[in-house]
Amino acid sequence: MLIDLFLSKIAEICQGELIGDDVLISSVETNSKESKISSLFVALKGDRFDGHDYVSQAFENGFLAALVSQDVGVSPAIVVNDTLTAYGEIARYIRHSFKGKVVAVTGSNGKTTVKEWLSHIVSEHNGVLKTKNNENNQVGVPKTLLDLSEDHQVAIIETGTSYPGEIEKMGRVITPDIAVLTNASGCHYSGFGTLDAIAKEKGALLSSTSRSGSVVLNKDDPFYVYWAGLAKGRVIRSFGFDNDAQLWVDDILLCDDHSVARFHYKGESVLGRVGSPGRHQIANGMAVVQVLLCIGWTFKSAVLALADSLVIPGRLQKIYSENRPLLLNDCYNASPKSVNAAIDVLQCQKVENTVLVLGALGELGALEASVHQEIGRYAFQSGVSCLIALGPVAGIASSVFSSLGGKAYVFDTHSEISQKLKELNDSSAVLIKGSRSAQMEKVIEDLDY
Ligand code: ATP
Ligand code: MG
Repeated sequence: MLIDLFLSKIAEICQGELIGDDVLISSVETNSKESKISSLFVALKGDRFDGHDYVSQAFENGFLAALVSQDVGVSPAIVVNDTLTAYGEIARYIRHSFKGKVVAVTGSNGKTTVKEWLSHIVSEHNGVLKTKNNENNQVGVPKTLLDLSEDHQVAIIETGTSYPGEIEKMGRVITPDIAVLTNASGCHYSGFGTLDAIAKEKGALLSSTSRSGSVVLNKDDPFYVYWAGLAKGRVIRSFGFDNDAQLWVDDILLCDDHSVARFHYKGESVLGRVGSPGRHQIANGMAVVQVLLCIGWTFKSAVLALADSLVIPGRLQKIYSENRPLLLNDCYNASPKSVNAAIDVLQCQKVENTVLVLGALGELGALEASVHQEIGRYAFQSGVSCLIALGPVAGIASSVFSSLGGKAYVFDTHSEISQKLKELNDSSAVLIKGSRSAQMEKVIEDLDY
């Protein structure tokens, strides 16, 4: 553990006022039930809870001290203006005590995929600290960094966003040595209004990267030039599908469960297998290779490391059952770009019929209708055999799909969809996708595979 700080030092780090005895702190926690050795309880305020209501309980559970934004009559305590900012400042201090490399990953799609892939590869040789699950927000980022220890040589931190300014705040805490920006696409429109605003938000990670650090950028993204401008002296490492990127690929072969591509970098070429299917995974794989190069891997070993398949629950996860259709569980979440990527993988499966089961994409604001229309069109043009929609919003996609001549259904409940899918046999593959709010995994639960 890298935390071994007196409360007075922590008060100084987060510009707070120390009340009561100075004690030595070895862990910092936000859950009043999770006291460890010499723990400091941080009282965070959320929409539905206020940690200040749990301070007494925290002391009863063994916490030594509390970090609060108002004096709640307990000591020892540190009183600050804002406990969330203070939590981040403590994590920032710990991050700067860390001698290894810190990698931060942001973008609209592929953050968890790149983070998991990199962690999997790097952890074969080095101690890796990574963001658990999807804890990529202003609470999850400090929480992850506070787990840094002498066992780690590399930290891989996922950075998401749900409101303008969030990445800038997290970037200050992370101060990455290497920042990866996968892409910008139209998710969270309702929180940001425009794609420009989304690109600007993601770009904030680049400005927070250490001055001597590197930024890994997608050359094919329309915002590449804008992001490269934000790099300001940091080393730019680009990747893409055209030969104007520093790392690029050609000779691509897309298969049902993997891809093959020839990778090019600074005059060298390596034919590599990418262990997860889809063109989007080749893009994510190139981002992974750029980070590996940055931390000292050779080009060849970096490309060859992509060969293992990577299965992350709910992300194009294949589910098999005898004599039944192949399921592609992509229920975790959906954005317009990730729906198209998933349809492409569906169409690579070796089956007679392909079925897209679609739940609504959320957080699209005024673009809701046009995005769903475009999905219906893309599915039809890609050759999907049937589109089954859940509810009226996803139904916009099925209307377009059927108006173009495709077979389409709209159901009001998950279980009706499951019933319909039970009519299919093993000559079909079914992609199940929708935003988190659509809870499309219920369709799979009902199918009882
Ligand atoms: P979140 O913002 O929800 O944390 P994320 O950026 O972490 O998402 P992943 O969890 O890696 O993204 O993937 C989410 C979805 O996007 C999955 O359906 C996945 O297949 C798809 N996806 C992953 N990478 C890409 C990419 N580069 N382009 C398009 N879609 C992608
Ligand atoms: Mg994620």
